[in-house]
Amino acid sequence: MSHVFPRHTKANLPTAVSGEGCYIIDSNGKRYFDGSGGAAVSCLGHSDQTVRQAIKDQVDELAFAHSGFFTSDPAEKLADLLIAHAPEGIERVYFVSGGSEAVEAALKLARQYHLERGDDKRSHIIARWQSYHGNTLGALSAGGNRWRRKPFEPLLVPMTHIDPCYAYRYQAQGESLEDYAIRAADLLEAEILRVGPEKVAAFICEPVVGATMGAVTAEPGYLKRIRKICDQYGVLLILDEVMCGMGRTGSLFACDQDGVSPDILCIAKGLGAGYQPIGAMLCSGKVYKAIEDGSGFFQHGHTYMGHPVACAAGLAVITAMFERNLLGKVQKRSLQLMTALTSAFGQHPYIGDIRGRGLFIGLELVRDRESKHPFPSDLALHAKVKKIAFANGLICYPMSGTIDGQSGDHILLAPPFIIEEEHIGEIVDKLAKTFAMIPELEH
Ligand code: PMP
Repeated sequence: MSHVFPRHTKANLPTAVSGEGCYIIDSNGKRYFDGSGGAAVSCLGHSDQTVRQAIKDQVDELAFAHSGFFTSDPAEKLADLLIAHAPEGIERVYFVSGGSEAVEAALKLARQYHLERGDDKRSHIIARWQSYHGNTLGALSAGGNRWRRKPFEPLLVPMTHIDPCYAYRYQAQGESLEDYAIRAADLLEAEILRVGPEKVAAFICEPVVGATMGAVTAEPGYLKRIRKICDQYGVLLILDEVMCGMGRTGSLFACDQDGVSPDILCIAKGLGAGYQPIGAMLCSGKVYKAIEDGSGFFQHGHTYMGHPVACAAGLAVITAMFERNLLGKVQKRSLQLMTALTSAFGQHPYIGDIRGRGLFIGLELVRDRESKHPFPSDLALHAKVKKIAFANGLICYPMSGTIDGQSGDHILLAPPFIIEEEHIGEIVDKLAKTFAMIPELEH
Protein backbone atom coordinates (compact mmCIF):
# COMPACT_ATOMS: atom_id res chain seq x y z
CA MET A 1 0.00 0.00 0.00
CA SER A 2 1.25 3.46 -0.86
CA HIS A 3 1.61 5.91 2.01
CA VAL A 4 1.58 8.93 -0.29
CA PHE A 5 -1.55 11.08 0.01
CA PRO A 6 -2.54 11.59 -3.64
CA ARG A 7 -4.82 14.31 -5.05
CA HIS A 8 -7.43 11.71 -5.98
CA THR A 9 -7.51 8.83 -3.54
CA LYS A 10 -8.67 6.36 -6.22
CA ALA A 11 -6.25 7.61 -8.85
CA ASN A 12 -3.81 4.68 -9.07
CA LEU A 13 -1.16 6.73 -10.85
CA PRO A 14 1.67 5.31 -12.93
CA THR A 15 5.17 5.87 -11.56
CA ALA A 16 7.21 8.38 -13.51
CA VAL A 17 10.81 7.19 -13.68
CA SER A 18 12.62 9.33 -16.23
CA GLY A 19 12.41 12.29 -18.54
CA GLU A 20 13.67 12.67 -22.09
CA GLY A 21 13.18 16.02 -23.82
CA CYS A 22 9.42 16.57 -24.09
CA TYR A 23 8.59 13.08 -22.80
CA ILE A 24 8.03 11.51 -19.40
CA ILE A 25 8.54 7.76 -19.18
CA ASP A 26 6.80 5.56 -16.62
CA SER A 27 7.97 2.36 -14.90
CA ASN A 28 6.36 0.25 -17.65
CA GLY A 29 8.37 2.07 -20.30
CA LYS A 30 5.33 3.98 -21.61
CA ARG A 31 6.17 7.42 -23.04
CA TYR A 32 3.95 10.45 -22.50
CA PHE A 33 4.31 13.61 -24.55
CA ASP A 34 4.14 16.48 -22.06
CA GLY A 35 1.74 18.71 -23.98
CA SER A 36 1.03 20.92 -20.99
CA GLY A 37 4.45 20.94 -19.29
CA GLY A 38 2.59 19.47 -16.29
CA ALA A 39 0.76 22.70 -15.50
CA ALA A 40 2.80 25.07 -17.69
CA VAL A 41 5.94 24.25 -15.71
CA SER A 42 8.41 22.20 -17.75
CA CYS A 43 9.41 24.83 -20.31
CA LEU A 44 12.83 23.26 -21.01
CA GLY A 45 11.60 19.70 -21.15
CA HIS A 46 12.71 17.01 -18.74
CA SER A 47 16.38 16.38 -19.37
CA ASP A 48 18.13 19.72 -19.67
CA GLN A 49 21.80 19.08 -18.99
CA THR A 50 22.73 22.69 -18.20
CA VAL A 51 20.10 23.04 -15.51
CA ARG A 52 20.91 19.64 -14.04
CA GLN A 53 24.59 20.52 -13.87
CA ALA A 54 23.90 23.92 -12.27
CA ILE A 55 21.89 22.20 -9.55
CA LYS A 56 24.60 19.60 -8.90
CA ASP A 57 27.30 22.27 -8.74
CA GLN A 58 25.29 24.36 -6.29
CA VAL A 59 24.55 21.40 -4.01
CA ASP A 60 28.26 20.64 -3.94
CA GLU A 61 29.13 24.22 -3.12
CA LEU A 62 26.38 25.20 -0.70
CA ALA A 63 22.95 23.62 -0.41
CA PHE A 64 21.34 26.02 2.03
CA ALA A 65 21.96 29.13 4.07
CA HIS A 66 18.97 30.74 5.76
CA SER A 67 17.97 34.02 4.13
CA GLY A 68 17.60 35.64 7.54
CA PHE A 69 21.37 35.40 7.90
CA PHE A 70 22.79 35.33 4.39
CA THR A 71 22.21 36.19 0.78
CA SER A 72 23.79 33.93 -1.86
CA ASP A 73 25.42 34.27 -5.26
CA PRO A 74 22.70 32.43 -7.18
CA ALA A 75 19.96 34.55 -5.54
CA GLU A 76 21.80 37.79 -6.32
CA LYS A 77 22.55 36.78 -9.90
CA LEU A 78 19.04 35.55 -10.63
CA ALA A 79 17.53 38.74 -9.19
CA ASP A 80 19.90 40.83 -11.37
CA LEU A 81 18.93 38.88 -14.46
CA LEU A 82 15.20 39.14 -13.81
CA ILE A 83 15.39 42.86 -13.09
CA ALA A 84 17.47 43.48 -16.22
CA HIS A 85 14.53 42.16 -18.25
CA ALA A 86 11.62 43.19 -16.01
CA PRO A 87 8.92 45.71 -16.91
CA GLU A 88 9.81 49.35 -16.30
CA GLY A 89 9.92 50.37 -12.65
CA ILE A 90 10.25 46.83 -11.25
CA GLU A 91 13.36 46.84 -9.07
CA ARG A 92 13.28 44.12 -6.45
CA VAL A 93 12.79 40.36 -6.31
CA TYR A 94 11.50 38.43 -3.30
CA PHE A 95 12.15 34.71 -3.78
CA VAL A 96 9.72 32.08 -2.53
CA SER A 97 9.07 28.41 -3.29
CA GLY A 98 6.07 28.54 -5.62
CA GLY A 99 3.11 30.39 -7.05
CA SER A 100 0.77 30.47 -4.05
CA GLU A 101 3.58 31.80 -1.86
CA ALA A 102 4.31 34.52 -4.41
CA VAL A 103 0.67 35.59 -4.36
CA GLU A 104 0.49 35.55 -0.55
CA ALA A 105 3.58 37.75 -0.40
CA ALA A 106 2.06 40.11 -2.98
CA LEU A 107 -1.21 40.52 -1.08
CA LYS A 108 0.59 41.19 2.19
CA LEU A 109 3.08 43.57 0.60
CA ALA A 110 0.20 45.57 -0.89
CA ARG A 111 -1.36 45.94 2.55
CA GLN A 112 1.94 46.84 4.20
CA TYR A 113 2.76 49.39 1.48
CA HIS A 114 -0.29 51.43 2.44
CA LEU A 115 0.36 51.01 6.17
CA GLU A 116 3.95 52.23 5.81
CA ARG A 117 2.59 55.36 4.18
CA GLY A 118 0.34 55.97 7.15
CA ASP A 119 -2.83 54.74 5.45
CA ASP A 120 -4.36 52.01 7.60
CA LYS A 121 -7.74 51.99 5.86
CA ARG A 122 -6.66 50.27 2.67
CA SER A 123 -7.04 46.52 3.13
CA HIS A 124 -9.58 45.52 0.51
CA ILE A 125 -8.46 43.42 -2.45
CA ILE A 126 -10.37 43.28 -5.73
CA ALA A 127 -9.82 40.23 -7.97
CA ARG A 128 -11.68 38.62 -10.86
CA TRP A 129 -14.07 35.72 -11.29
CA GLN A 130 -12.84 32.64 -13.16
CA SER A 131 -9.30 33.23 -11.94
CA TYR A 132 -6.83 31.08 -10.05
CA HIS A 133 -4.15 32.49 -7.77
CA GLY A 134 -3.21 29.49 -5.64
CA ASN A 135 -4.52 27.14 -2.99
CA THR A 136 -3.35 28.75 0.25
CA LEU A 137 -6.17 30.59 1.98
CA GLY A 138 -5.17 34.14 0.98
CA ALA A 139 -4.51 33.19 -2.64
CA LEU A 140 -7.69 31.10 -2.73
CA SER A 141 -9.64 34.11 -1.45
CA ALA A 142 -8.38 36.10 -4.42
CA GLY A 143 -9.15 33.26 -6.84
CA GLY A 144 -12.51 33.40 -8.52
CA ASN A 145 -13.23 29.76 -9.31
CA ARG A 146 -16.37 28.94 -7.37
CA TRP A 147 -15.74 25.19 -7.28
CA ARG A 148 -12.33 25.65 -5.67
CA ARG A 149 -13.61 28.28 -3.23
CA LYS A 150 -16.88 26.79 -2.10
CA PRO A 151 -15.78 24.18 0.50
CA PHE A 152 -13.44 26.67 2.16
CA GLU A 153 -15.59 29.77 2.02
CA PRO A 154 -15.93 30.18 5.80
CA LEU A 155 -12.13 30.41 6.01
CA LEU A 156 -11.59 32.79 3.13
CA VAL A 157 -10.59 36.42 3.56
CA PRO A 158 -13.25 38.83 2.29
CA MET A 159 -12.30 40.08 -1.19
CA THR A 160 -14.57 41.05 -4.06
CA HIS A 161 -14.52 40.01 -7.69
CA ILE A 162 -15.32 41.51 -11.06
CA ASP A 163 -15.88 39.69 -14.35
CA PRO A 164 -12.72 38.95 -16.33
CA CYS A 165 -11.89 40.18 -19.82
CA TYR A 166 -13.26 37.21 -21.77
CA ALA A 167 -14.33 38.33 -25.21
CA TYR A 168 -15.50 34.91 -26.40
CA ARG A 169 -18.26 34.98 -23.79
CA TYR A 170 -18.78 38.57 -22.71
CA GLN A 171 -18.25 40.74 -25.81
CA ALA A 172 -21.64 42.13 -26.82
CA GLN A 173 -23.00 41.75 -30.35
CA GLY A 174 -21.81 44.58 -32.54
CA GLU A 175 -19.31 45.74 -29.92
CA SER A 176 -15.71 46.17 -31.11
CA LEU A 177 -12.96 44.39 -29.19
CA GLU A 178 -11.49 47.78 -28.23
CA ASP A 179 -14.82 48.93 -26.79
CA TYR A 180 -15.29 45.63 -25.01
CA ALA A 181 -11.80 45.84 -23.45
CA ILE A 182 -12.61 49.28 -22.04
CA ARG A 183 -16.03 48.18 -20.80
CA ALA A 184 -14.47 45.14 -19.08
CA ALA A 185 -11.76 47.27 -17.44
CA ASP A 186 -14.29 49.86 -16.31
CA LEU A 187 -15.87 47.18 -14.12
CA LEU A 188 -12.87 47.75 -11.86
CA GLU A 189 -13.62 51.43 -11.50
CA ALA A 190 -17.25 50.67 -10.65
CA GLU A 191 -16.13 48.17 -8.01
CA ILE A 192 -13.58 50.58 -6.49
CA LEU A 193 -16.30 53.22 -6.24
CA ARG A 194 -18.76 50.74 -4.75
CA VAL A 195 -16.28 49.57 -2.07
CA GLY A 196 -14.95 53.08 -1.43
CA PRO A 197 -11.61 54.04 -3.02
CA GLU A 198 -10.10 54.85 0.37
CA LYS A 199 -10.47 51.19 1.39
CA VAL A 200 -8.98 49.45 -1.65
CA ALA A 201 -5.38 48.22 -1.36
CA ALA A 202 -4.89 46.37 -4.64
CA PHE A 203 -6.35 44.74 -7.72
CA ILE A 204 -4.99 41.35 -8.81
CA CYS A 205 -5.39 39.61 -12.16
CA GLU A 206 -3.67 37.22 -14.57
CA PRO A 207 -2.71 38.92 -17.87
CA VAL A 208 -3.47 35.61 -19.61
CA VAL A 209 -5.77 33.41 -17.54
CA GLY A 210 -4.49 29.85 -17.34
CA ALA A 211 -5.89 27.15 -15.09
CA THR A 212 -9.49 28.30 -14.82
CA MET A 213 -10.26 29.50 -18.35
CA GLY A 214 -7.66 27.97 -20.65
CA ALA A 215 -5.39 30.70 -22.00
CA VAL A 216 -7.77 33.64 -22.17
CA THR A 217 -5.77 36.74 -23.08
CA ALA A 218 -6.81 40.22 -21.96
CA GLU A 219 -7.85 42.12 -25.09
CA PRO A 220 -5.56 44.94 -26.26
CA GLY A 221 -6.13 48.06 -24.21
CA TYR A 222 -7.63 46.24 -21.21
CA LEU A 223 -4.57 46.25 -18.97
CA LYS A 224 -3.63 49.80 -19.93
CA ARG A 225 -7.06 50.97 -18.83
CA ILE A 226 -6.77 48.88 -15.64
CA ARG A 227 -3.38 50.54 -14.93
CA LYS A 228 -4.94 53.97 -15.38
CA ILE A 229 -7.84 53.22 -13.06
CA CYS A 230 -5.48 51.83 -10.37
CA ASP A 231 -3.34 54.98 -10.58
CA GLN A 232 -6.35 57.25 -10.41
CA TYR A 233 -7.54 55.71 -7.14
CA GLY A 234 -4.18 54.91 -5.50
CA VAL A 235 -4.77 51.17 -5.86
CA LEU A 236 -1.77 48.87 -6.43
CA LEU A 237 -1.81 46.65 -9.51
CA ILE A 238 -0.69 43.05 -8.91
CA LEU A 239 -0.19 40.90 -12.00
CA ASP A 240 -0.14 37.16 -11.42
CA GLU A 241 2.13 35.68 -14.07
CA VAL A 242 2.73 32.45 -12.20
CA MET A 243 1.46 30.48 -15.20
CA CYS A 244 1.74 32.89 -18.13
CA GLY A 245 5.12 34.43 -17.26
CA MET A 246 8.71 33.33 -17.88
CA GLY A 247 8.55 33.14 -21.64
CA ARG A 248 5.37 31.11 -21.90
CA THR A 249 3.63 33.72 -24.08
CA GLY A 250 6.72 34.55 -26.16
CA SER A 251 8.09 37.37 -24.00
CA LEU A 252 9.79 36.91 -20.64
CA PHE A 253 6.88 38.62 -18.88
CA ALA A 254 3.40 38.36 -20.39
CA CYS A 255 2.62 42.00 -19.57
CA ASP A 256 5.52 43.13 -21.82
CA GLN A 257 3.11 42.60 -24.71
CA ASP A 258 0.43 44.73 -23.08
CA GLY A 259 2.77 47.67 -22.53
CA VAL A 260 1.92 47.77 -18.84
CA SER A 261 4.07 47.71 -15.70
CA PRO A 262 2.46 46.47 -12.51
CA ASP A 263 3.41 47.51 -8.98
CA ILE A 264 3.81 43.88 -7.97
CA LEU A 265 4.38 40.87 -10.21
CA CYS A 266 4.18 37.16 -9.30
CA ILE A 267 6.08 34.44 -11.14
CA ALA A 268 6.83 30.74 -10.53
CA LYS A 269 6.38 27.58 -12.64
CA GLY A 270 8.61 28.29 -15.67
CA LEU A 271 11.17 30.03 -13.44
CA GLY A 272 12.41 26.70 -12.09
CA ALA A 273 11.03 24.81 -15.11
CA GLY A 274 10.23 21.94 -12.74
CA TYR A 275 13.88 21.33 -11.88
CA GLN A 276 13.45 23.06 -8.53
CA PRO A 277 10.45 24.56 -6.71
CA ILE A 278 10.87 28.32 -6.94
CA GLY A 279 8.67 31.37 -7.35
CA ALA A 280 9.14 35.08 -6.85
CA MET A 281 7.31 38.27 -6.11
CA LEU A 282 8.78 41.28 -7.86
CA CYS A 283 7.92 44.83 -6.91
CA SER A 284 8.48 48.35 -8.11
CA GLY A 285 11.00 50.75 -6.64
CA LYS A 286 8.06 52.81 -5.36
CA VAL A 287 6.62 49.92 -3.34
CA TYR A 288 10.03 48.85 -2.05
CA LYS A 289 10.88 52.40 -1.01
CA ALA A 290 7.74 52.65 1.11
CA ILE A 291 9.03 49.72 3.17
CA GLU A 292 12.63 50.96 3.12
CA ASP A 293 11.67 54.46 4.25
CA GLY A 294 9.14 53.11 6.74
CA SER A 295 9.73 50.22 9.11
CA GLY A 296 12.48 48.78 6.89
CA PHE A 297 11.05 45.31 7.41
CA PHE A 298 8.59 43.38 5.26
CA GLN A 299 6.61 41.43 7.80
CA HIS A 300 6.63 38.13 5.96
CA GLY A 301 8.98 35.23 5.18
CA HIS A 302 9.43 31.50 4.69
CA THR A 303 12.23 29.14 5.68
CA TYR A 304 13.15 28.22 2.11
CA MET A 305 12.96 31.64 0.49
CA GLY A 306 15.95 32.41 -1.71
CA HIS A 307 17.05 28.77 -1.54
CA PRO A 308 20.49 28.68 -3.23
CA VAL A 309 19.84 25.48 -5.18
CA ALA A 310 16.45 26.68 -6.41
CA CYS A 311 17.96 30.03 -7.40
CA ALA A 312 20.83 28.27 -9.21
CA ALA A 313 18.25 26.28 -11.18
CA GLY A 314 16.25 29.46 -11.97
CA LEU A 315 19.40 31.22 -13.09
CA ALA A 316 20.29 28.35 -15.43
CA VAL A 317 16.73 28.24 -16.82
CA ILE A 318 16.45 31.96 -17.60
CA THR A 319 20.01 32.10 -18.95
CA ALA A 320 19.15 29.19 -21.27
CA MET A 321 16.04 31.03 -22.49
CA PHE A 322 18.16 33.95 -23.67
CA GLU A 323 21.22 32.04 -24.87
CA ARG A 324 19.14 29.63 -26.93
CA ASN A 325 16.67 32.25 -28.18
CA LEU A 326 13.81 30.23 -26.77
CA LEU A 327 11.46 33.20 -26.72
CA GLY A 328 11.80 33.48 -30.49
CA LYS A 329 11.21 29.75 -30.72
CA VAL A 330 8.03 30.05 -28.63
CA GLN A 331 6.70 32.66 -31.06
CA LYS A 332 7.50 30.52 -34.09
CA ARG A 333 6.10 27.28 -32.68
CA SER A 334 3.05 29.13 -31.40
CA LEU A 335 2.06 30.09 -34.94
CA GLN A 336 2.63 26.54 -36.15
CA LEU A 337 0.68 24.97 -33.31
CA MET A 338 -2.18 27.44 -33.62
CA THR A 339 -2.38 26.86 -37.39
CA ALA A 340 -2.33 23.08 -36.95
CA LEU A 341 -5.01 23.15 -34.22
CA THR A 342 -7.22 25.50 -36.23
CA SER A 343 -6.92 23.39 -39.32
CA ALA A 344 -7.70 20.17 -37.41
CA PHE A 345 -10.39 21.44 -35.05
CA GLY A 346 -11.48 24.87 -36.29
CA GLN A 347 -14.72 23.39 -37.68
CA HIS A 348 -15.23 20.78 -34.96
CA PRO A 349 -18.86 21.10 -33.84
CA TYR A 350 -17.93 20.86 -30.16
CA ILE A 351 -14.90 23.12 -30.08
CA GLY A 352 -16.09 26.67 -29.71
CA ASP A 353 -12.83 28.55 -29.37
CA ILE A 354 -9.12 28.01 -29.95
CA ARG A 355 -7.13 30.83 -28.37
CA GLY A 356 -4.03 31.86 -26.52
CA ARG A 357 -0.67 33.51 -26.79
CA GLY A 358 2.72 31.90 -27.33
CA LEU A 359 2.85 28.26 -26.28
CA PHE A 360 -0.11 28.80 -24.01
CA ILE A 361 -3.16 27.69 -25.96
CA GLY A 362 -6.67 26.79 -24.87
CA LEU A 363 -9.50 24.90 -26.56
CA GLU A 364 -12.97 25.50 -25.17
CA LEU A 365 -15.49 22.68 -25.55
CA VAL A 366 -19.13 23.62 -26.10
CA ARG A 367 -22.28 21.60 -26.72
CA ASP A 368 -23.36 24.06 -29.36
CA ARG A 369 -21.02 26.37 -31.26
CA GLU A 370 -23.77 28.79 -32.20
CA SER A 371 -25.12 29.44 -28.69
CA LYS A 372 -21.74 28.65 -27.03
CA HIS A 373 -23.68 26.58 -24.56
CA PRO A 374 -21.34 24.50 -22.36
CA PHE A 375 -21.70 20.78 -21.74
CA PRO A 376 -23.39 19.97 -18.41
CA SER A 377 -20.85 19.85 -15.60
CA ASP A 378 -21.92 16.39 -14.40
CA LEU A 379 -20.54 14.93 -17.65
CA ALA A 380 -17.06 15.98 -16.40
CA LEU A 381 -15.92 16.06 -20.00
CA HIS A 382 -12.61 17.66 -19.06
CA ALA A 383 -11.78 14.65 -16.89
CA LYS A 384 -12.62 12.27 -19.74
CA VAL A 385 -10.37 14.19 -22.11
CA LYS A 386 -7.53 14.12 -19.59
CA LYS A 387 -7.88 10.39 -18.95
CA ILE A 388 -8.17 9.29 -22.57
CA ALA A 389 -5.45 11.65 -23.79
CA PHE A 390 -3.18 10.28 -21.06
CA ALA A 391 -3.93 6.71 -22.14
CA ASN A 392 -3.04 7.84 -25.66
CA GLY A 393 0.30 9.14 -24.39
CA LEU A 394 -0.53 12.85 -24.30
CA ILE A 395 -0.46 15.00 -21.17
CA CYS A 396 -2.82 17.95 -21.45
CA TYR A 397 -4.32 20.10 -18.71
CA PRO A 398 -8.11 20.09 -18.78
CA MET A 399 -10.41 21.98 -16.46
CA SER A 400 -14.12 22.27 -16.08
CA GLY A 401 -15.55 25.69 -16.57
CA THR A 402 -19.12 24.55 -16.29
CA ILE A 403 -19.46 24.35 -12.51
CA ASP A 404 -21.27 27.66 -12.49
CA GLY A 405 -22.12 27.77 -16.19
CA GLN A 406 -19.57 30.55 -16.71
CA SER A 407 -17.72 28.80 -19.50
CA GLY A 408 -17.22 25.48 -21.22
CA ASP A 409 -14.82 22.70 -20.27
CA HIS A 410 -11.45 23.49 -21.70
CA ILE A 411 -8.10 21.94 -22.49
CA LEU A 412 -4.88 23.84 -21.91
CA LEU A 413 -1.80 23.15 -24.01
CA ALA A 414 1.52 24.47 -22.75
CA PRO A 415 4.25 22.30 -24.26
CA PRO A 416 7.97 22.77 -23.56
CA PHE A 417 9.62 25.60 -25.53
CA ILE A 418 11.92 23.03 -27.11
CA ILE A 419 9.21 21.33 -29.19
CA GLU A 420 10.03 20.62 -32.80
CA GLU A 421 7.68 20.65 -35.75
CA GLU A 422 7.03 16.90 -35.57
CA HIS A 423 5.83 17.28 -31.98
CA ILE A 424 3.10 19.62 -33.17
CA GLY A 425 1.80 16.86 -35.42
CA GLU A 426 1.95 14.46 -32.50
CA ILE A 427 -0.10 16.77 -30.24
CA VAL A 428 -2.78 17.28 -32.89
CA ASP A 429 -2.96 13.59 -33.84
CA LYS A 430 -3.24 12.45 -30.24
CA LEU A 431 -5.89 15.06 -29.49
CA ALA A 432 -7.88 14.04 -32.57
CA LYS A 433 -7.64 10.38 -31.53
CA THR A 434 -8.77 11.35 -28.02
CA PHE A 435 -11.79 13.35 -29.20
CA ALA A 436 -12.79 10.47 -31.48
CA MET A 437 -12.86 8.13 -28.48
CA ILE A 438 -15.28 10.29 -26.47
CA PRO A 439 -18.92 9.59 -27.42
CA GLU A 440 -20.11 13.11 -26.46
CA LEU A 441 -17.64 14.61 -28.94
CA GLU A 442 -18.52 12.30 -31.83
CA HIS A 443 -19.69 13.99 -35.01
N1 PMP B 1 -1.32 31.71 -9.78
C1 PMP B 1 -1.59 31.16 -10.98
C2 PMP B 1 -2.00 32.07 -12.11
C3 PMP B 1 -1.48 29.80 -11.19
O1 PMP B 1 -1.77 29.28 -12.38
C4 PMP B 1 -1.07 28.98 -10.11
C5 PMP B 1 -0.90 27.47 -10.27
N2 PMP B 1 -1.64 26.88 -11.24
C6 PMP B 1 -0.80 29.59 -8.87
C7 PMP B 1 -0.92 30.95 -8.75
C8 PMP B 1 -0.35 28.76 -7.69
O2 PMP B 1 0.90 28.26 -7.88
P1 PMP B 1 1.43 26.99 -7.05
O3 PMP B 1 0.62 25.82 -7.48
O4 PMP B 1 2.88 26.90 -7.43
O5 PMP B 1 1.28 27.31 -5.62
